[in-house]
Amino acid sequence: MSQVLYVPRRLLEETRAHLLREAPREGVGLWAGRREVERVIPLPNAHPHPHTAYLAEPLALLKALRELEGEGLALLAIYHSHPAGPALPSPTDIKEARWRVPYVIFGTDGVRAFWLPEGREVSLLVLG
Ligand SMILES: [Zn+2]
Repeated sequence: MSQVLYVPRRLLEETRAHLLREAPREGVGLWAGRREVERVIPLPNAHPHPHTAYLAEPLALLKALRELEGEGLALLAIYHSHPAGPALPSPTDIKEARWRVPYVIFGTDGVRAFWLPEGREVSLLVLG
């Protein structure tokens, strides 16, 4: 399992722009690519309490995963935002973690990535 996520600065900014549009709701999406992040895929937050939690809308998620597969890209990470909190996994983030890719969290104090539910941090290396 990767200990480093490589993301071009331009795509990090694209992700931030998506999450700003969603605020004060939490935003969620996917990072995909081969070695480094090549695509940012915003997804609708379908959680009934979107200001404090997120749920990638299942049909949009399925469609996005199929598209990635069709393009030969791998899912590299799932990202979401904490519009009013730190870039640390919440108890709910840990309890509901299902994916075997890093969880990237954009908080008020920056952006960090973790394997969940273990909580081991993954380095984010910004390129460019
Ligand atoms: Zn969270």
